[in-house]
Amino acid sequence: MSDCLFCGIVAERIPAIRIAETDRAIAFMDIFPAAPGHALVIPRVHTDDALTATDEDLAACLQLAARVGRAAVEQLGATGVTFQSLARPDAGQTVFHLHVHVIPRVAGDGFAFPWPHAEGDLAELEGQAARLRMAL
Ligand code: AMP
Ligand code: ZN
Repeated sequence: MSDCLFCGIVAERIPAIRIAETDRAIAFMDIFPAAPGHALVIPRVHTDDALTATDEDLAACLQLAARVGRAAVEQLGATGVTFQSLARPDAGQTVFHLHVHVIPRVAGDGFAFPWPHAEGDLAELEGQAARLRMAL
């Protein structure tokens, strides 16, 4: 897509600090890092998000993201890694080309989960599970 920022990075029209590439995916540094070593992994072929991606591109992105995460553990001293991919504006997505955030983590880094971790109502969980199963 000609007006897509990350397609511009794939095509090298827009500069990026690349760290790894495969035939389907590219990893590069996030320029507004949430933590030291924060990287992004994207498919070469445009797709808006994980909801629209092919199985092949999803697999390629997660495989490369895992490699980048292992590198962060080996080289940057990360003791954990957050893998995150937002889909659509209501989930907070701001760049509409699928990307997996690879965020190196350490104990006490203050990178909080955004949800409250309250125990769910079992009947509600069963009802939601039944509806999800119908679509899977
Ligand atoms: P999201 O909010 O999940 O859509 O994340 C988009 C990410 O892209 C943010 O973390 C931005 O910091 C990052 N970003 C935006 N523009 C660039 C760029 N030119 N190079 C690298 N990362 C970028
Ligand atoms: Zn794109």
